[in-house]
Amino acid sequence: MITRDRLLIDGEWRTAKSSGRIPVTSPSTGLVIGEAPDATVDEINAAAMAARRSFDEGTWRLKSVEERAEVLDAAMTLLESNLDEIGRLVTSEMGLPTSIAQVQIPGALATGRYFLDVAKKDSPSEMRNTVYGPAAVVKEPVGVVASIAPWNGPFNMAISKIVPALVAGCSVVYKPAEETPLDGFFIAEALVEAGVPAGVFNYLTGDRDTGRALVAHQEVDKVSFTGSTMAGREIATECGASFKRLTLELGGKSAAIVLDDADIATTMVGLAIGSFFNTGQVCASYSRVLVPRSRLDEIVGALVATAESFVVGNPFDPSTTMGPLVSRRHQHRVLSYIENGRSAGATVATGGAVPAGLEHGCYVQPTVFTNADNAMRIAREEIFGPVVVVLPYDTVDEAVAIANDSDYGLHGAVFTTDPQRAADVARRVRTGTFSVNSFTYNTEAPFGGVKCSGVGRDTGPEAVQAYYELKTINLTQNMEHLFA
Ligand code: NAD
Repeated sequence: MITRDRLLIDGEWRTAKSSGRIPVTSPSTGLVIGEAPDATVDEINAAAMAARRSFDEGTWRLKSVEERAEVLDAAMTLLESNLDEIGRLVTSEMGLPTSIAQVQIPGALATGRYFLDVAKKDSPSEMRNTVYGPAAVVKEPVGVVASIAPWNGPFNMAISKIVPALVAGCSVVYKPAEETPLDGFFIAEALVEAGVPAGVFNYLTGDRDTGRALVAHQEVDKVSFTGSTMAGREIATECGASFKRLTLELGGKSAAIVLDDADIATTMVGLAIGSFFNTGQVCASYSRVLVPRSRLDEIVGALVATAESFVVGNPFDPSTTMGPLVSRRHQHRVLSYIENGRSAGATVATGGAVPAGLEHGCYVQPTVFTNADNAMRIAREEIFGPVVVVLPYDTVDEAVAIANDSDYGLHGAVFTTDPQRAADVARRVRTGTFSVNSFTYNTEAPFGGVKCSGVGRDTGPEAVQAYYELKTINLTQNMEHLFA
């Protein structure tokens, strides 16, 4: 049992005032494995005020970007010495198979270091000679950031949200998801130990009401939110009223378009990762697979075989390739979507149930639906599980139209052996991110969505830019050297 009873507020590990605790349940066993504090309104306020004070006093934001990067790099090094323990915790908290955690946790730290490099290479100001005279366009940190994350990649998500904000000079209050509050304590401890000044980073655990109170706090200048479209809509409304800056990374219903010349082996490698990675709990997942009617039987057969090739089970077993869903509640949600698909007339070509012998955990078999159409709820709503809907088409125009007939616009793919056709389709599908013959989460390029999938971009150099405001300083002559 891992009991955490303190919150990081203003540089101190304060014993949580509330008697409320969030139980952390392992989705692979159904057993409670830990607990974390449920932050009170006073603690949320104290964290936001500490972030404000530290920002206004400038203990962090007035350091050079190189100085900030050095401290954050030291924090990455401290985290590297705990890779195994963090990995085990993520596997216990959310069921990520060990074999994946072993790659994902060090990968997150490499991405953190990438953000430090990008920030150091970036120019903090740009001189412009305008008809009004010289002007300096200066990048300044946006201020106090409320950063709120989901559970589906708790450690890598935390690094990708915290490091860009801190290296840009912001002060941060971070809230992980209530399902996965434990691994982030390692990050908070590393930041303190590495020398991030008091108040610059605050770690609050709590539920959605904690998130709500944080978003509404008057001292928050920017909200960086990753989570469901429903919560994103509520947050956007709140931020709109107070003009808080906002980045929203929300849900998806991405389509993989398989063209009639696609290589079947390449396509199946892409779909195995794209549709089923992380038990389908990936915002960018290819949950719709668009298949030419001329090759429907062949591709459905291969997709069913791919789904059935997963070894579903205990995430601590090195041979497991698919772990459980994050919680019993989420398992029920996914199963109810499967039921909905069946009753709407779609056919379960494989899966569709809890795997035999794994009833104690939150498991669902990898599932492929056929005989579906794009109007069904299983094709329109984000299921966030290992459930794929195959949709047949006759022409490429029709495939593009089906892909675009969605409230979401996060990711998508085309599988083809013809680069020209790939480029044409890539241009026509309306999403923020797109992959050719693969499922690529490219942390060195902007990632994000259009339509109900969000606002703004995470990852790439753009992730750091999202934490700056631009200030124009109109200069008199002979001042240019002061902004070089
Ligand atoms: P969720 O929206 O229920 O919760 C996400 C986080 O927001 C949690 O920390 C929660 O406590 C908090 N929260 C919930 N409602 C809130 C509100 N009204 N105000 C403030 N905070 C609130 O989402 P989830 O179930 O944890 O995560 C799954 C969702 O996240 C899926 O929809 C998935 O697509 C999305 N997601 C998107 C991306 C992306 O980059 N686009 C990445 C990962 C996950």
